[in-house]
Amino acid sequence: MVEIVSSEFVKSAQSIDDSLPSDLSEVVFIGRSNVGKSSLLNSLSKRKGLAKKSSTPGKTQLINFFAITYKNIDKYQLRFVDLPGFGYAKVSKSIKDDWHQNISDFLVKRNSIRVFIHLIDARHFGLDIDMQVNSYLNSIKNADQNIVTVITKMDKLNQSGLSKLKNSIKSNEKFNTDRLEFVSNLKNRGIDKLNQTIFELIFS
Ligand code: GDP
Repeated sequence: MVEIVSSEFVKSAQSIDDSLPSDLSEVVFIGRSNVGKSSLLNSLSKRKGLAKKSSTPGKTQLINFFAITYKNIDKYQLRFVDLPGFGYAKVSKSIKDDWHQNISDFLVKRNSIRVFIHLIDARHFGLDIDMQVNSYLNSIKNADQNIVTVITKMDKLNQSGLSKLKNSIKSNEKFNTDRLEFVSNLKNRGIDKLNQTIFELIFS
């Protein structure tokens, strides 16, 4: 089994200009505030406090870099990059615009990105903002980059919620992804499989 054997916070940056050198493969995590992004970083790395769960949604506006080591037989290094959550209504429009500019700049120009992880809440699949992010990622990604869509908080769905979700994913013609994963941080479901997917996309 592939697992993360070490994970460490390295640096926060305001924008691409003060980011780390792009000398390692990177996995970026993108999602609306409160989608469960910090919890997912903690689940993947099995470290409760790696990414702090945000008590105020949208408050963390920095780009956070984490040094990650995966191990199967050998060890492999890469970076996780936690981007600011988007879609938080209470920040002013001008802050929002700068913020989106900063993030899209980073996503387009950062050539060490190999995997875009786009998180979507299981209860809210199909929101305009997420469909825009999906189409944006598809429009910018190059041949050695992949989009992994991670549906979060699966424990919140009952059987009928689950079939509704699967139908709305299947019937949405605009939605395009390279891999689709379903996780619950609460129940620790789908986490090992997601680690395996990330590892395969980058190292095999
Ligand atoms: P972020 O803003 O995207 O970083 O989201 P957080 O990781 O801070 O999580 C937002 C809220 O969702 C917190 O109250 C978490 O405890 C909760 N949460 C995160 N993951 C899950 C999950 O898998 N299931 C459930 N039921 N709640 C979750």
